[in-house]
Amino acid sequence: MDKIYEQLSRFALTEKDRSLQEMTTLRIGGTVKYTVYPESVTALDSIMHYVKDLGMPYKMIGKGSDLLCADRPFDGVVIRLDRHFITSYYTENILTAQAGASIIALAVDAMKQGMSGLEFASGIPGTVGGAIYMNAGAYRSSMCDIVREVYVYRDGKIEWIPAAECGFGYRSSIFQKHPDWLILAVRMELTPKDSNEIRELMDDRRKRRWASQPLEYPSCGSVFRNPENRNAWELIDGIGYRGMQKGGAKVSEKHCNFIVNTGGAKADDYLCLIEEIQEKVLENYGIELITEVEKFNWQTNR
Ligand SMILES: Cc1cc2nc3c(=O)[nH]c(=O)nc-3n(C[C@H](O)[C@H](O)[C@H](O)COP(=O)(O)OP(=O)(O)OC[C@H]3O[C@@H](n4cnc5c(N)ncnc54)[C@H](O)[C@@H]3O)c2cc1C
Repeated sequence: MDKIYEQLSRFALTEKDRSLQEMTTLRIGGTVKYTVYPESVTALDSIMHYVKDLGMPYKMIGKGSDLLCADRPFDGVVIRLDRHFITSYYTENILTAQAGASIIALAVDAMKQGMSGLEFASGIPGTVGGAIYMNAGAYRSSMCDIVREVYVYRDGKIEWIPAAECGFGYRSSIFQKHPDWLILAVRMELTPKDSNEIRELMDDRRKRRWASQPLEYPSCGSVFRNPENRNAWELIDGIGYRGMQKGGAKVSEKHCNFIVNTGGAKADDYLCLIEEIQEKVLENYGIELITEVEKFNWQTNR
């Protein structure tokens, strides 16, 4: 009898031993002991109290589109909001969306509503929560341009924090410094615009993405952040790593800031390519490449 599973199941739908390969876009990773899908803030609060009392590790996962998970099992609890925290609504030009909503679905809906501001997000395969955490962006726009307030569960309390207090920077936010704060919802300010114009821009960008990114393979998007005034892909190309392969992990020929899973890639092979690239770029250019993808469930020495 698994008492933890039994208790978690009273709070929320709970799954045992699900693979991170099914929960991430990179399709790499070990199994998760418990995965929970709370339906309400009350359930989430109960889960957090229970898990913290047990001293169990936990992790919020959105669509897993920015995670490089280790192959070993995660003996803890993964919390997912993408099943029940997915509501969104407009109050004039303010869009309020729950954290588990798909940011692509919101961008498409905004286009249909004739609301501009989310066009940049129409190719980012994450949730609202993950997009806030990463301050996700593209085409010189990012979440911080439209976010007005973020609804956060922290220290057992829930509050709206203004965008000015979210510490947004290039692919960064205050939430990266406080992994125990859980994003529940966000208010974004959009601008009315002709739907057809928005559609055309989004269609054009979709074509550009398909032409320039290896979307036919599992990946986590761009692996490295662009250093100041440089493109990470140019540096990777410069050290001769375009097309470099380790096991099933391969630097994309199409876009070398993508490392794709060509099938059955091991987390170690993937990380090995990342570390080699960082070493060689430092040697050749004196530039420290910082990863955009986040490592999850690795031993502390890796
Ligand atoms: C093909 C492809 C293209 C991509 N293109 C882009 C792009 O153009 N621009 C860009 O910025 N990114 C891009 N990405 C990366 C990724 O989609 C974004 O970073 C996205 O915002 C991650 O959202 P997620 O829900 O998948 O987060 P996850 O990967 O699940 O999680 C990322 C981090 O956010 C935290 N998190 C998630 N939800 C919450 C929450 N509710 N509360 C607190 N913390 C939370 C997690 O704990 C984790 O630390 C791309 C990825 C892929 C696979």
